Amino acid sequence: MTMMSLVSTRTAATASPFEAVLCGLAPDGGLYVPASLPTWTLSQIQDLVGLPYEKAAALILHGFFDEVSQEKMEALCAEAYASFSDERRVPVSSIEPGLFAMELYHGPTLAFKDVALQLLPLLMAYSAKATGQKEKSLILVATSGDTGKAALEGFADKPDTAIVVCYPNNGVSPAQKLQMVTQKGGNVCVTAVEGNFDDCQNGVKRLMGDPDFHEMVRQNGYTITSANSINFGRLVPQIVYYFTSYAQLLEQGAIALGEAVDFIVPTGNFGDILAGWYAKKMGLPVGTLICASNKNNVLSRFFETGTYDCGGELYKTTSPSMDILISSNLERLLFELTGQNPAPIQAWMEQRTAEKKFTVDEKTMEKARQDFFAAWADDQAASEAIGTVFHAQHVLLDPHSAVGYCAYQQYKKTKDTKRKAVLLCTASPYKFAATVLEALGRKAEGQEQTARALEKATGKPVPQAILDLFSAEQRHFSCVEPKELDALVESFLKQS
Ligand SMILES: *Cc1c(COP(=O)(O)O)cnc(C)c1O
Repeated sequence: MTMMSLVSTRTAATASPFEAVLCGLAPDGGLYVPASLPTWTLSQIQDLVGLPYEKAAALILHGFFDEVSQEKMEALCAEAYASFSDERRVPVSSIEPGLFAMELYHGPTLAFKDVALQLLPLLMAYSAKATGQKEKSLILVATSGDTGKAALEGFADKPDTAIVVCYPNNGVSPAQKLQMVTQKGGNVCVTAVEGNFDDCQNGVKRLMGDPDFHEMVRQNGYTITSANSINFGRLVPQIVYYFTSYAQLLEQGAIALGEAVDFIVPTGNFGDILAGWYAKKMGLPVGTLICASNKNNVLSRFFETGTYDCGGELYKTTSPSMDILISSNLERLLFELTGQNPAPIQAWMEQRTAEKKFTVDEKTMEKARQDFFAAWADDQAASEAIGTVFHAQHVLLDPHSAVGYCAYQQYKKTKDTKRKAVLLCTASPYKFAATVLEALGRKAEGQEQTARALEKATGKPVPQAILDLFSAEQRHFSCVEPKELDALVESFLKQS
């Protein structure tokens, strides 16, 4: 048995998967990627057909966490996914001929991030034990909406951990905010931060890079880690559902074994779509990965021009979880495309910090364009897509998935393709009920009335997790400037 080794994108420094899960960001500031990938044959993929999600997940995860026994991994996955409301965990359904929905929103917080964040705390606890870590883990999260709640739900009341979640004061949907400010748990701290997501993320990044802050945390018995999508432990669980959805298409008779399938991914931090790229490199028959952005179209412009320019304005859109200018996980892709060469990555990332843009050489871009097609859609187009798809197919898309649908239409116009495609539906429409209701030409006052009106208009029942919010008590009231975060965390650690 070979032991999986990881390398950092900035210096090629190595770490074990356990170390990577525990530290999040590499000490050199880079992101960890596998030094080499486990590979899957078509017949192994065929064998996934009919397996429960937990078993398939354990097989795929074991390839990366090879020091965790198959049996143990299965137990961890069973525990992680027991809270999902659909027995298939990530079911695949039909949208229209040739296009399928991967329903990633059946977890406790109704967004795809649950798939990784229900498992990550268990992987972290296992890693802490395996490496003999003495300190407790402090999870610091900056969220554009969905990560925060999913991380809270995953880490609340987990032993030997505390979690601090920061969200931009004016950048999350009302349901997302309600989900976070009502969070229970003795080890959780939730705060709004003045500004947009980038201000919020920069605030957290500053803490992560501040030795004094680390020392204060250590003196309180903790060590800092991240549950953001830079954590290697977030990436791997997301690879799983590309495989299981392919197996479901096989089972449904929608494709033949070996037939390439395109995946459409509503993208922000580039984590979800990167997992699809890894699935392809592991041997899954993936055609094109369609990278869908909203008006914050930094990635579309990058794939078109080769210049990544994050110096512009961050727009607030109706798909807030994609309102991002710095797509952290792109660094991992570039590192892979340059043959895991840290030198250009370091130069590009330094340029990104100093000049807010960098340009990638044509050879690397050519490779990137072989696997990806990028397009973007504004709020208006996404809204129209919600209406069109609902009226034609009785399928209700959330605004993020609707952006994906729009990108797919552009892809079909550009490339004459007969390939089947899977749209990653990343959130429940009920997390963004007002936007979705409006797309159907209606309006209501108040969150609960809006959800009820959406149910009435569509016949799709309001999920229980949303209903529960309307009677939940608000527990978190804090709103701070980014520079006040240090003091906030310190007082939280002192009292917990
Ligand atoms: C986080 C999120 C995305 C973007 O995923 P990335 O991995 O950041 O690219 C898309 N849609 C929803 C609903 C999300 O919560």
